[in-house]
Amino acid sequence: MFTAHDKLKPSYDVVIIGGGGHGLASAYYLARDHGITNVAVLEKGYIGGGNTGRNTTIIRSNYLTPEGVKFYDKSVQLYQDLSTEFDLNLFYSTRGHFTLAHTDSAMRTMRWRAEVNKHYGIASEVVGPEEVKRQTPQIDLSCGGHAPIQGALYHAPGAVARHDAVAWGYGRGADMRGAEIHQQTAVTGIEVKGGKVVGVHTTKGFISTNKVICAVAGFTPRITDMVGFKTPIFVHPLQAMVSEPMKPWLDTILVSGSLHIYVSQSARGELVMGASLDPYEVQSTRSTLDFPEGLAAHLLDMFPFLSHSKVVRQWAGMADMTPDFAPIMGMTPVEGFYLDSGWGTWGFKATPVCGKTMAWTAVNDKPHELITGFSLDRFRNYSLTGEKGAASVGH
Ligand code: FAD
Repeated sequence: MFTAHDKLKPSYDVVIIGGGGHGLASAYYLARDHGITNVAVLEKGYIGGGNTGRNTTIIRSNYLTPEGVKFYDKSVQLYQDLSTEFDLNLFYSTRGHFTLAHTDSAMRTMRWRAEVNKHYGIASEVVGPEEVKRQTPQIDLSCGGHAPIQGALYHAPGAVARHDAVAWGYGRGADMRGAEIHQQTAVTGIEVKGGKVVGVHTTKGFISTNKVICAVAGFTPRITDMVGFKTPIFVHPLQAMVSEPMKPWLDTILVSGSLHIYVSQSARGELVMGASLDPYEVQSTRSTLDFPEGLAAHLLDMFPFLSHSKVVRQWAGMADMTPDFAPIMGMTPVEGFYLDSGWGTWGFKATPVCGKTMAWTAVNDKPHELITGFSLDRFRNYSLTGEKGAASVGH
């Protein structure tokens, strides 16, 4: 699918660490928007094998902060044209996204989000239980009697897409324009002299470069250790699972913060399901038995008729969480080292806008206007971008 490159060149204008969606999109926009093609994407495994290939593909822009809403809205806009641009079907499917509220305080947060969203022109409104039932007739609105649904935040543009195809599309587009993608090539060290990046050590030798974009999600702390600074990122496993394929019955995407669950139905008919983070900090992609047990119990509260359905796969990814649930993007204390991280449970939807803004940032050596609210400095300046109300369970 990609041009084979046996060897690394001795130097590149830009080296991108991580061949997930974000790294590949950065390479794509460096080439497409800025004509920079002397670029290497270094991936220690295979492209899309990290969180890009492990996520539950929810795309939405109904966030809580103005910074978040504007940023994710741009991503949703970019997604609209990608299948045509790549000449590759991404199975982008607009479904409508309900964030269910089971308590008065959850309803308050939904109203807050709806108002912020509307202010920025995002289709987002609070609806009553009857609208949830109208669009999802199979739901038990009482949720087994112990968590009745009071209403929901409804976001009509909410969508799902095929995650692998997003990585492949960006990878192919970057490759066709001359960027090099090196799989099975791990970064093992980063050379910094006088506070500036000068090169990267890999399992296939040393490369000189003055610009490095780091897009490694759950591996971020290992890479920032190599350049000698710390971020407040902590890594927790995030698990997901799918059911056996069924005839299509669930058109919408449903999220319940109170029941710690979200669900949509894929083009293949499988129910794609997830929950909140595992509660312990560990850098591992092992999944556990208590995850499907807990998730299934809550799913049956909403859809008791699924009691005989089978789970066919479960897995985990490593989520790079931040204290305020917003990403960390842009400049760092090391000149020429640009960070695209803190993508926790919410970064798939941001793939296009991350690629575009990171490419711009590396070329211009200053943060793109859409990412100024996500700077690493905000933790030093106590000016956090509090996104937890919109980014915890609802990825
Ligand atoms: P990744 O896809 O993880 O890519 C990073 C790459 O870096 C990996 O391929 C890795 O092998 C490579 N790498 C690491 N270290 C090195 C090294 N030293 N040298 C070379 N390469 C290296 N987001 C949403 O928006 N919606 C969702 O519904 C959603 N659901 C999720 C469900 C689960 C179960 C998980 C785990 C995540 C979910 N996310 C979701 C989050 C989303 O998947 C991630 O934020 C996003 O995919 C991050 O993309 P990335 O390209 O930055 O990282």
